[in-house]
Amino acid sequence: MTSRRVSTARDSGFAAALRSLVRGDVRENESLSRWSTYRIGGPATVLFPANGEDVAAAVQRCARSGVPWFALGLGSNLLFPDHGLDALVIRVGKGLDQITQRNAEWVIGAGVPAPLAAKRTAAAGWGGIHKMVGVPGSVGGGVVMNAGCHGAEWRDVVRTVHTIDAQGNDHLVAAAEAGFSYRRSDLGHVVVVSTTVALHEADATRLEEETESLYRWRKDGTPFNQPCCGSVFKNPAVPADHDPKGPRTSGQFIEATGLKGLRVGGAEVSAMHANYFINTGSATAADVVELMRTVRTRVGDKWGVTLEPEVKLIAADGGVMPLTS
Ligand SMILES: Cc1cc2nc3c(=O)[nH]c(=O)nc-3n(C[C@H](O)[C@H](O)[C@H](O)COP(=O)(O)OP(=O)(O)OC[C@H]3O[C@@H](n4cnc5c(N)ncnc54)[C@H](O)[C@@H]3O)c2cc1C
Repeated sequence: MTSRRVSTARDSGFAAALRSLVRGDVRENESLSRWSTYRIGGPATVLFPANGEDVAAAVQRCARSGVPWFALGLGSNLLFPDHGLDALVIRVGKGLDQITQRNAEWVIGAGVPAPLAAKRTAAAGWGGIHKMVGVPGSVGGGVVMNAGCHGAEWRDVVRTVHTIDAQGNDHLVAAAEAGFSYRRSDLGHVVVVSTTVALHEADATRLEEETESLYRWRKDGTPFNQPCCGSVFKNPAVPADHDPKGPRTSGQFIEATGLKGLRVGGAEVSAMHANYFINTGSATAADVVELMRTVRTRVGDKWGVTLEPEVKLIAADGGVMPLTS
């Protein structure tokens, strides 16, 4: 049987065909603002896979129909476009959220929220990912982004990553092959299904106290509960002749340029932490992008450094766009 070629997952025929192949839910015209911590984004067709087989079936269907796809975790490091996506959004969450322990090795589903994984392992007396309690993404998104805080990163503990590639094939990728570096990996266009991490035994009470105080520190120092995506810009490379007493991090550069509180539409540079741009309620993706451009230009003009986005600006086909001037 030959299938009709479409290039957008918004085609209702595509959604119907996908529905017949998977156990999970397929929602059309789903507002992506519900699925990103920015609370920004237009409509898309979203699959909530019930298991890895659903993921494989979906990417195979996309390949046959010429439809691009995008793997979504908790949406805490991206900005979706106002007009939504043509790509099928594969939202990894429930269904891919099992946690299994084999002595020091823990297999953690990509759909588990990282703070939950941190708390569960700490309460069981295993340290290694407990510091991720303040990173509000999924385990899958954390591994793909090599997320980290308080000096810990996913690459410190990951042994293998179970992925499904664009043809629907399973792979067990060893950490050494995952290409981890600062806030990135080279896992490519795959869906992460789970990861195996090696943890160390420690006192549960001490670990829980540590996770509690780290969480409190995050909540007190950042606009944690407001719609945002965490750090907007990566920390820049500073010129060799840069004043050692001057700003070094993106947040310090933005603050030292006097941009705290700067606003475009509903998007605002947080008064609490200058590298966090918050959605004050009505922000569009266009507002956030314009604010990013203005901040980058003003910081560049004053200090001669170039700020590069840490947040991923997602295009209609699910690809990542550069921040153009
Ligand atoms: C308040 C706040 C504080 C933050 N603090 C930190 C911090 O301290 N340290 C830090 O590193 N980050 C931080 N972040 C950013 C963010 O939480 C991390 O990058 C997180 O790991 C992203 O995970 P996610 O599930 O939300 O990924 P998403 O935002 O959903 O996706 C990010 C990228 O990962 C890909 N992806 C997600 N899940 C999968 C999957 N299962 N398979 C394949 N690809 C996938 C997406 O395609 C996308 O390219 C913060 C964000 C917020 C909102």
